[in-house]
Amino acid sequence: MRITLPDGTIREYDQTVTGANVAAEIGAGLAKAAIGAKINGQLCDLNQSIDHDSTLAIVTKPRLDKKGKTRGDMDPDALYLLRHSCAHVMAEAIQRLWPQAILAYGPPLDNGFYYDIALETPISSDDFEAIEIEMNKIIEENRPFTRYEMSPEEGLAKLTEEGNKYKIDNAQRALDGGSETLSWYVTGDQGCWEDLCMGAHVPSTGTIPAFKVMSIASSYWHGDVTSDRFQRIYGTAFFGHGDLDDHLELLEQAKQRDHRVIGQKLGLFVIDELVGQGLVLWKPKGALVRSLLQDFLQAELLRRGYQVVYTPHIGKIDLYKTSGHFPYYQDSQFPPIQMRDHVSGGEEQYLLKPMNCPHHVRIYASEPHSYRNLPVRLAEFGTVYRFEQSGELTGMTRVRGFTQDDAHIFCTQDQVKEEFAATVELTQFVFNTFGFEDVSIRLSLRDPDSDKYAGDPKLWDRAERELREVLSDMQIPYTQELGEAAFYGPKVDFVVKDVIGRSWQLGTVQLDYNLPKRFELEYVGADNATHQPVMIHRAPFGSMERFMAILIEHYNGAFPLWLAPEQVRVLPISDKFVGYAKEVSRALSSEGLRVHIDDANERVNAKIKVAQDDKVPYMLVVGGRDAEAGTVSVRDRSRGDLGPIQLPEFIRSVQVELSTRGQSVVEVV
Ligand SMILES: [Zn+2]
Ligand SMILES: [Zn+2]
Repeated sequence: MRITLPDGTIREYDQTVTGANVAAEIGAGLAKAAIGAKINGQLCDLNQSIDHDSTLAIVTKPRLDKKGKTRGDMDPDALYLLRHSCAHVMAEAIQRLWPQAILAYGPPLDNGFYYDIALETPISSDDFEAIEIEMNKIIEENRPFTRYEMSPEEGLAKLTEEGNKYKIDNAQRALDGGSETLSWYVTGDQGCWEDLCMGAHVPSTGTIPAFKVMSIASSYWHGDVTSDRFQRIYGTAFFGHGDLDDHLELLEQAKQRDHRVIGQKLGLFVIDELVGQGLVLWKPKGALVRSLLQDFLQAELLRRGYQVVYTPHIGKIDLYKTSGHFPYYQDSQFPPIQMRDHVSGGEEQYLLKPMNCPHHVRIYASEPHSYRNLPVRLAEFGTVYRFEQSGELTGMTRVRGFTQDDAHIFCTQDQVKEEFAATVELTQFVFNTFGFEDVSIRLSLRDPDSDKYAGDPKLWDRAERELREVLSDMQIPYTQELGEAAFYGPKVDFVVKDVIGRSWQLGTVQLDYNLPKRFELEYVGADNATHQPVMIHRAPFGSMERFMAILIEHYNGAFPLWLAPEQVRVLPISDKFVGYAKEVSRALSSEGLRVHIDDANERVNAKIKVAQDDKVPYMLVVGGRDAEAGTVSVRDRSRGDLGPIQLPEFIRSVQVELSTRGQSVVEVV
C-alpha cells in the first residue's frame, strides 16, 4: 500500500496504518503537533486506519507566538476539528448542569460552533460561566474522543431505544446522504458521555486550549417555526488565547460598526414594520450614496462595452417555468399572483421577479445574432424578490427585496476566457476603489465523476482550464472547490477582507450552459451554421443593499469624500458671519459639492461635535479674519484642525480628492 504525502513523497506499508503512525515515523515534533488527518482529501481522526493506496496530510495545531497567537494563517481544517470537538464538550457540560436537556444538532461554523438543545428551563448568559467551568473540568480530564460504529439497523435500534427523535432524524439523514454506518464519539472510555456524530475530532479534550461560550438564540427543528423550538447556544474555540482575544476584540469592533446602528444614526435607511420586514426604505442620505455607487459602476460598465436595459419587476409564470426558476426555487419565492383578464376572460399567473436572467435572455432572443455582434453584454440594476424566513432577516444584509448590479454576457465559447478576464478585472477595479485590497477567489468546479452537469463535458473542461489560466495570469490567489459548481456551469466567488479583517463574499461570476439551451438561444457562426451562446452571469457588488451594509461597516459610517452624502459643512463662529458662510457655501455648491451651513445658535465646538458625529469629511470654520482674507479654517474629520486656507485652494484640493476617489489630499502649509 502506498501513501502519498503532500510534498509528493511516497511511503510503502504492508499493513494498515494511521495518520498517527505516519506522523510518528516522520518525527517527534510532527507527532506532537498532530491532531487529525486528511485522507484522500477527507478530514478524519488521527487514528483512522488506512488500508489502501491513499493521499495523506497530517493536520497539526498551529505554532503560537509569545502572545498565544497563531503564527501565519490559521488552518481551517485544524479549527474545524477543534470547534467540532468543543461543541461536544459544551453539550456534555450542559447535560451535566441540566440532565433533562435533549441534544439536537451541533455543527462547527466558520467562527465557532453551536449546539441546538431542547430544554424547558431557559438558559441565559448568566449561566455561561457555569457552563464554562464544567467545560474546563472536562478539558482538564483530558479524555480521548473515541469513535465506534454500528450498522444502520443496530444503530437505529439503539437510537430508538434511547428515544431522542432528533438524533434518529440526524441518523436517517446521514444514511440518506450515503453513510454506510452510524458512528458515535465517546468522550473517554465506553460508558462515558457520547454523541452520535460522523466526526472528525481532535484526539482528546485536552487539545482544546482556548474557548468561550458566546451567546444564545432560539431556533427551530429544521428551521421550521411551526416545529420544535430549541435553545441554540453558540461558542467558539481557538488554539491560542491570543487568537481568542483577537476574535473577541474583532467582534466588539464589529458590534460598534453594525450597519443597522450606524444606518439609523446617520439616517441612511429604515425598515418599517408597516411596509414589511426585509423591505428596505432608503432614506435621502442613503439613497444618495446608492445613486453615486450606481453612477460609478454604470460609467465603468458603459466604458467596458455593456449596454443598459430595464425590465419589469414581475413576469409571467411561463417565463420562469421555461427558465426552471419555477417550481424548483418555489420555497424562496413569493407565491404566484393569479390574475383574471376581464376582457378575454383568461387566467394568468405572474411571479415577482426572483432573478433578472430570464428577462435579459428574452431581450437577447428578440433579435437575430451573428458571431460578429457577440459578446452582447446586458446590464441592469434589477430588483428581485425572495421570500426569506423572518428569522433569517438581518438589516440590509438579508432582505426580501434587493437590487442586484446584474449583467448577463452572451458570448461564444471562444470568448469565455476574455470575457471572464474582463469581469475579474472590473471586479478588482471596483474593490480597489473601495479600499478592499485583500481579494481572493473561490473557484467552484464540477465533480468530474458526476453526470448531473448541463452542457458538453469538453466545454466544461475547457472553461475550467481557462478560468484557472486567467486567475494564474492575473496572479490572484484562489482556492478550488471540486463538486461545488452549479449543475449549469462553473462559478467564481470573490472574497474580500474589510479594514477590520473580516471576510465578505462579494461579487460572483457564473458560467451558464443551461439557460441558453432552455431558451434555445442562437447565433450564426462564421461557418454560417447556428450555435448556442454561453451565458455569463456576474454582479460585482452582489446586491446594492448588502454592498451598502458592508460599506457602512467597512468605513464605520465615514464614507470617503466622493460618496459622503454631505461633503462639507460650513460652521460660522457666530451669527455675524452667516453671510460669509453663505458666500462660501454658494462657491462650493456651484462647483458641484454637497454642502450645508450649520447656523444654529451654538458655540462652534458644539457644532464641530455634531459634524464629527455626522461624519462629514470637511468642516469649514469661518469667522471675522476669514471673511476679511477670503479664507476658510479647515477641519478634517480624521486629521483634525488643518488651519486657514484660501477658499479657491480648498476647492482645488477637494476636486483632486474627488477625481481620484481617494483619501484626503487637502494640505495646508
Ligand atoms: Zn462530533
Ligand atoms: Zn443571472
